[in-house]
Amino acid sequence: MSYDTVRDVDPAVAEALTAERERQNDTLAMIASENHVSEAVMEAQSSELTNKYAEGYPGERYYAGCEHADTVEELAIERAKELWGAEHVNVQPHSGTQANMGVYLAVLDPGDKILSLELEHGGHLSHGHPANFTGQTYEVEQYQVDAETGYIDYEGLEEIAEEFQPDIIVSGYSAYPRDIEFEEIQRVADDVDAYHLADIAHTTGLVAAGVHSSPVGVADFVTGSTHKTIRAGRGGIIITTDEHADDIDPAVFPGGQGGPLMHNVAGKAVGFKEALEPEFDEYAQQVVDNAKALGERMQEHGFSLVSGGTDNHLVLVDLRESHPDTTGKEAEEALEEVGIVLNANTVPGETRSAFNPSGIRAGTPGLTTRGFDEEACREVADLIYRVVDNHDDEGVKSEVSERIDELTDEFTLYE
Ligand SMILES: *Cc1c(COP(=O)(O)O)cnc(C)c1O
Repeated sequence: MSYDTVRDVDPAVAEALTAERERQNDTLAMIASENHVSEAVMEAQSSELTNKYAEGYPGERYYAGCEHADTVEELAIERAKELWGAEHVNVQPHSGTQANMGVYLAVLDPGDKILSLELEHGGHLSHGHPANFTGQTYEVEQYQVDAETGYIDYEGLEEIAEEFQPDIIVSGYSAYPRDIEFEEIQRVADDVDAYHLADIAHTTGLVAAGVHSSPVGVADFVTGSTHKTIRAGRGGIIITTDEHADDIDPAVFPGGQGGPLMHNVAGKAVGFKEALEPEFDEYAQQVVDNAKALGERMQEHGFSLVSGGTDNHLVLVDLRESHPDTTGKEAEEALEEVGIVLNANTVPGETRSAFNPSGIRAGTPGLTTRGFDEEACREVADLIYRVVDNHDDEGVKSEVSERIDELTDEFTLYE
């Protein structure tokens, strides 16, 4: 058995990995679903546990040799319970989509009804989009955000629920800048006798730190991705009550997955430990403060924000008012050229297409991890404005690019 490095074995991949580290170091990761994990999480994720089959759950595995896998999974579970105040947690979903799949498999039959937010209004593919297994397996109706306010239209949701009689209502979103009234959605779910899945993929870290409302103890099922604000490496989790534990666990394995990715479970365990430290609460508060500072300064530059601001880690900019001739894709591409990496996004009432939409979405989890404060985020808003406003001007872009180099040198990331 040789212990050659990637560089020894495969220079082409090694080069791409080094280039990716440099890309992350040298650019601002403002894709709202992304973050930078610690080197400890990366070490756990690249450990020998990648070799281990551990089908089953701690203490009841289908294979021998699982004692260390058990230790790691039990630690991940215990820490998750503490972080989110949960009765039961399943840490095996390979990703957020697989976590949602676990819930659907646990409580729905093919043809059952899902009520969820429209993708264009901030929802997620795994909430019933026709291109996703959910849209192909279940009957789906969708609610919207209020066209005027940009907030979830809770009354509209209730009306559709009464008419449609869903089996499950999904809350939790991908591009929604406001806090969520989970209790209100639960009330509607109770009224129509539906389950409630709160998918907090984006806000897991904010919920754990108490800077966003928590659906735990309110909704029947809470799912999340572990690589977003909670910063625990790629993966998913399901949080539920003891009552539903025996529905969820067999739905994840063997229902929808084979062996767990134990190296990723180890990453979750380490990331959750980090998130239990008081510094993580400060981090999460700073993520929100930074998003507010970013959004307010963008508004001062004339950008229109969906819902008029933010309560969480992201802002959604509708370019149609301030820059009617600039598409989200054009803005995204010009920003990427200078080292600001965010994504074009649909906005409520979209008049272009999903591929070339009218908005951009910008998040602060990654910037905050590398130490950005409100002042630095206000400057980032200034830079975004300069680039979007002059997206064809090479001189402006090279000036901004130089400033991004200085900022990324000041706020260092990986060695
Ligand atoms: C990111 C996200 C997911 C899960 O995505 P994965 O890429 O599968 O982890 C699920 N739901 C919402 C609302 C999301 O934003």
